[in-house]
Amino acid sequence: MRKKNKVPVWGEIIAELLTQGVRIKGDITKRKGGAGPSEGCTLLVNEIPVNVPVDGSYAKQSSYVVKKINGIFFLFRGDIKLFSVGMVPRPKFYDYVTSDGIAYDKIALLHGKDCLATTVFQKCIYWNSDKRCKFCGIELSLNSKRTTAVKTPAQLAEVAGTAKETDGIGHVVMTTGCTGSLKHTIRHLCDCIYEIKAFSGLPVHVQIEPPNDPSLLNELKDAGLDTIGLHIESFDEEILAKMAPIKSEIGLKWYTKAWEVSVDLFGKNQVSSFLIVGLGETKRSIIKGAEYLAKLGVYPFVVPLRPIPGSLMENAKPPESSVMVELCQEVGSILHKYNLSSKQNKAGCVRCGACSALPEFEI
Ligand code: SF4
Repeated sequence: MRKKNKVPVWGEIIAELLTQGVRIKGDITKRKGGAGPSEGCTLLVNEIPVNVPVDGSYAKQSSYVVKKINGIFFLFRGDIKLFSVGMVPRPKFYDYVTSDGIAYDKIALLHGKDCLATTVFQKCIYWNSDKRCKFCGIELSLNSKRTTAVKTPAQLAEVAGTAKETDGIGHVVMTTGCTGSLKHTIRHLCDCIYEIKAFSGLPVHVQIEPPNDPSLLNELKDAGLDTIGLHIESFDEEILAKMAPIKSEIGLKWYTKAWEVSVDLFGKNQVSSFLIVGLGETKRSIIKGAEYLAKLGVYPFVVPLRPIPGSLMENAKPPESSVMVELCQEVGSILHKYNLSSKQNKAGCVRCGACSALPEFEI
């Protein structure tokens, strides 16, 4: 028997902001490119970081507006003034250059309020094929020269160390495209983890495809990795085959093995999978998938589809906020049942939480 939670006020507003986006009147710090949803700004809603879309066509129609009045940002719904919000300022570390001459903001970006995020390999072997994940934008920022193709361990360690000092960065997220050799990718990530931790002491999260050789997960653990994301994205098989053919080919069995080994290595709450809402899947597949993951000790990070301008899905629409609220309520109950909590997570998207309303629905 699951305990049904109430709809939290902030949770509902955050779900609306994540799905509708906001219109901004005046100057703000926007993110273009990089890891994760690659455009938007971070608002602090009741001090909760929310990574809000601002550039998608749907965001331009949003009923939410942020306006600066007498130096304070206020959130409006239509003409109604709701409350003041914070804006995460441009981080100081963006003004630095690495010892080998690369601007820090080409190496890593601030996500949420204290997360340093980077895409270590900014290319994907499936990008120019029909196997590319439809929602992905990994090479867009590389094509517009806003980042570099490969980040070295030394560059990442330097940026992490400085960003901790200048901006109070508390954790690091590393994601990557598929290189064609997962072994090579993992070995490089291990070097990055080791260097970042030796230099900054920050907890580190990586997001990779699940290796079929579990000893590679041991290598990540030995390098000092704290948490891992193995993202299946959808439990609706038909939708997964259409939207992320490679993940569909890998298959649930392979993912499950990697999740199990990872929970053994990194612990409960330290392994996660994104579940994207709005790809055309059934609601039931999200709830069933979340329960499947939670039972294994894996945190189901339920996020709304974020159509990235320039990606294959740039004209898609995010899901209705009412759907997100309903799913977050259900998944919040599942988290409670299996004793999972984002607050226990040491590093990564689950700790950051800026792309999902789910943490607000935890009981
Ligand atoms: S939840 Fe993940 S992708 Fe979203 S802003 Fe935070 S670190 Fe970035």
